[in-house]
Amino acid sequence: MEISTTPSTTTVDDARLAEILENPGFGNHFTDHMLTIEWTPDAGWHGGRIEPYGPLSLDPATAVLHYAQETFEGMKAYRHEDGSIWSFRPEENAARMVRSSHRLALPVLPVDDFVQAVDALVAVDQRWVPDAAGEKSLYLRPFMFASEAFLGVRPAQHVTFMVIASPAGAYFKGGVKPVSLWLTEEYTRAGRGGMGAAKTGGNYASSLVAQQEASLHGCDQVVFLDGQEGKYVEELGGMNMYFVHADGHIVTPETGTILEGITRASIIELAGKMGHQVEERKFSIDEWREGVASGEITEIFACGTAAVITPVGELKWDGGSVPTPDGGGDLWRRIRQQLVDVQFGRAEDTFGWMHRI
Ligand code: PMP
Repeated sequence: MEISTTPSTTTVDDARLAEILENPGFGNHFTDHMLTIEWTPDAGWHGGRIEPYGPLSLDPATAVLHYAQETFEGMKAYRHEDGSIWSFRPEENAARMVRSSHRLALPVLPVDDFVQAVDALVAVDQRWVPDAAGEKSLYLRPFMFASEAFLGVRPAQHVTFMVIASPAGAYFKGGVKPVSLWLTEEYTRAGRGGMGAAKTGGNYASSLVAQQEASLHGCDQVVFLDGQEGKYVEELGGMNMYFVHADGHIVTPETGTILEGITRASIIELAGKMGHQVEERKFSIDEWREGVASGEITEIFACGTAAVITPVGELKWDGGSVPTPDGGGDLWRRIRQQLVDVQFGRAEDTFGWMHRI
């Protein structure tokens, strides 16, 4: 795919950039450029370009604003000690976008074009990739949306793919604190035949009210159950879950309607190599409660690109709670360390997960 680059520009000087990279937070600051590729049925993907970052001008009838025909991805670029820049399994994000786009009746952006596009933007904005010290990275947000100005309800005939990037700080700044969870019994994020397995904005819009409920009850994040029977654990608003058992085997929920994380998939491989049996299966809320009470469950953790892995603490719902497992295990910490070491080039990449930009 051809991607043109307009003469490169900078939105902030070196001194200001150093200040931003010192404490970037998450999703606050954006790099100097953005990448755009357009699609129409006749021309396919075309018009690839990198331009100075800036607002879009959209017709008020732009379909995505009305019918939410949209998919996105979330991934990171990491700087290694020698200054080189790498992404983590980008072809997996590309493949997930293909699956999401299929569900949203959006065109398929080939995996190679996706990876090339992300690489091209990072290469132009490489001064925005934070130093290897700490766990800072450049968060990458590829997204695709219905950009046709038309109010009929049908797949858009003009689609836009873009990549933007934003420096991200270390997730755990003041030391690791387990996340407390709120079990929503009123809301679900996915149903059979729905969009749960797709990374699309509507799933996040629908999670917000449940997240608000969690905050009102003093919890950090919300847990969703399956929409069919309301008894199987699905995932958090933005992370997948793992349950570690006393005999070392670990279970991660699989219901067919979760967003299958790339971190989740990597943990399946890594934990397997570390000698743990990993089961992907339905996991009920009763199994959670009873497993913690009996000591059968020794650790619970959540995983995703943002935090890599975070331990899970207390679970609360209207009228009940399950305490933090007190098995005292630290498998979550060992897996996390291995993943982070691979991502930052401090450990051998035995799985071939890293992609040099
Ligand atoms: N579930 C949901 C709903 C998410 O938004 C995310 C973040 N993409 C995840 C799980 C974890 O996925 P990943 O490991 O690819 O970041």
